Amino acid sequence: MEDCIFCKIIKGELPSYTIYEDEILKVFMNIDPSTNGHLLLIPKKHLVTVLDIDQNFISHALEIIQKKIYPLLKEKLNCEGLTISQNNFYGQEVKHFHIHLTPRYQEDLVEFSYNKEKLLDIEEVYQKLVN
Ligand code: AMP
Ligand code: ZN
Repeated sequence: MEDCIFCKIIKGELPSYTIYEDEILKVFMNIDPSTNGHLLLIPKKHLVTVLDIDQNFISHALEIIQKKIYPLLKEKLNCEGLTISQNNFYGQEVKHFHIHLTPRYQEDLVEFSYNKEKLLDIEEVYQKLVN
């Protein structure tokens, strides 16, 4: 994809602080981090949302996170936890599939905000989902 900034990063046309890469994926530093060590994991292939991703990729990504990235973040940055998140279309600024790996620290103030007033009754939502 010619205009995709993450494809450009993969091709080396844009710089990145790469932490890990192999033939399937790349992990690099988020240029606008929420916490110290906020990383992005992306497939080398241009795919957009979770609907495009196959199970082999997820399985490989999980293995890299479990065996390399999370241990690295714990050891080098002393994080207390890791939040793994991923936006699909809504809230997705870059339309190249990416997983946020956000190390967590005491009092980092990272939170999702949400509009409680717009929420439907939980029973109503449940009925929509199961009927
Ligand atoms: P999202 O809102 O889930 O699409 O997240 C996109 C993320 O990509 C944002 O957190 C940006 O800070 C990050 N980002 C955008 N451009 C770059 C770049 N050139 N290098 C590293 N991270 C980037
Ligand atoms: Zn791309």
